[in-house]
Amino acid sequence: MSATSPRNLPVCNPRTGEPDFHIPVAGPEEIAALASRLRANQLAWSAAGPAHRAELIKAWSARLLAEPGPVLDALVTDTGRHALALREINALGGMVAGNVALATTALVEPSERPSLTPGIHAQTQLVPYGLIGVISPWNFPFLLSMLDTIPALLAGCAVIVKPSEVTPRFIAPLMASLAAFPELAGVCAFITGDGSTGAALIGAADGICFTGSVATGRKVAAACAERFIPAFLELGGKDPAIVLSSADPDRAAAVVLRASVQGTGQACQSLERIYVDARISKEFVTRLVARAEAVPLNWPDSRSGQVGPLIFARQAEIIAAQLADAVEKGARILTGGVIERHGGGYWLRPTVVTGVTHDMSLMTEETFGPVLPVMSFGDVSVAVQLANDSVYGLSAAVFGDEAEALAVARQLVVGAVSINDGALTTEVFDVDKNAFRLSGLGASRMGASGLLRFVRKKALLIQRGTAKDMSSLEESSLNRS
Ligand code: NAD
Repeated sequence: MSATSPRNLPVCNPRTGEPDFHIPVAGPEEIAALASRLRANQLAWSAAGPAHRAELIKAWSARLLAEPGPVLDALVTDTGRHALALREINALGGMVAGNVALATTALVEPSERPSLTPGIHAQTQLVPYGLIGVISPWNFPFLLSMLDTIPALLAGCAVIVKPSEVTPRFIAPLMASLAAFPELAGVCAFITGDGSTGAALIGAADGICFTGSVATGRKVAAACAERFIPAFLELGGKDPAIVLSSADPDRAAAVVLRASVQGTGQACQSLERIYVDARISKEFVTRLVARAEAVPLNWPDSRSGQVGPLIFARQAEIIAAQLADAVEKGARILTGGVIERHGGGYWLRPTVVTGVTHDMSLMTEETFGPVLPVMSFGDVSVAVQLANDSVYGLSAAVFGDEAEALAVARQLVVGAVSINDGALTTEVFDVDKNAFRLSGLGASRMGASGLLRFVRKKALLIQRGTAKDMSSLEESSLNRS
């Protein structure tokens, strides 16, 4: 961040609606200077080896987890929520431990071995990209800024992070916490700004990890292609849940509700379409509505309740437009459905909708709100067809007898399926998964691939036999029998 930045952006508070914060917009020159400073430090960082890097990252994260105060306070204001803000920060512990454990095998260069070509022996050098740019969204601002940053640092890269301009208050205290670890701060920096800053970062980095919308993801992919640098994209979703007749309707309703409404539905892996077997759909919907109506807002007391404000005011318009479109085409809102104004913020109670079809944007476009449209099906094959009828392929959930649910899960065109639970990808960091279709591009950000995508493999090929000379190219030397 620089006091000399030419432009400042106002930032709204999600609980008051007031623009009570400003950020400077970092431009290309500032980013170029920062990039060159970080690149200079990255060589020693890479040479120091994974064990040293792991120790430093662990020490910094332990300090932050022990004293989260300033980062937590800022994140609470950014997102308007307490418990989830703390959970975002606490997730750093598992993220660091998991990546460090994976690094002990993934980042070890294999020992020299004979190749299948006689006389040639091979070594493999893992060469990290010099500088990775991380561009993150507003829905889980801290978590989604760290998810790619930790493995990239462990792999030996330097990292510049550009969080969303909608939720930037946590950046300054986070940088202050990094500053207490100068070696780490020498290879990891945060910048503030909007899309122009993100675009400038693409111009300075050797690879980009982007989490955000499909529309911006397309621009990021094109800009990275222009520069011939890798783009790892984690984009939107329209995650389906299938509730089989063998499921317990009340238990399924309880879990679907949580996996749909957590974070006020502002999560890529929120369940946004529910398909229920007709044999249990009446009971499922009854239980779902009863449970949805019992969910309290975090208002007026921000320290109690279960559903916080919508972070980004524009999201309220998108949700309202999708609900209006659905109702106009024959859908029924059984509970919720009204954007409420409290204290200047925008709120929506868990909203259950029936009578929906795939002609409605509510069933095809990302909603990013606590809305649960429910459709019933007669045959499981139809449920699979409906679940796969989407441009997205992020994740899904299936409820019911485990063997039956697994058989259904294997037919879904998505990168992860939670069985008898929802949104498990928010809790599991050590299992590889790809985003299918428009939900993303590139190697898995989870599991060992999450680390390996930041290193290139260099083959060192040693001739221990007799290297060929020109005589090997002599036409008459070829055996023409
Ligand atoms: P967004 O695409 O509007 O913005 C994301 C980031 O990109 C922001 O930091 C923004 O400043 C930056 N940006 C904007 N234009 C840019 C450009 N031309 N070049 C480079 N950077 C640019 O997304 P959002 O509204 O902040 O986030 C919500 C979206 O994120 C939803 O679609 C959600 O599904 C998705 N998301 C995906 C995942 C995942 O893991 N798949 C996780 C969380 C959120």
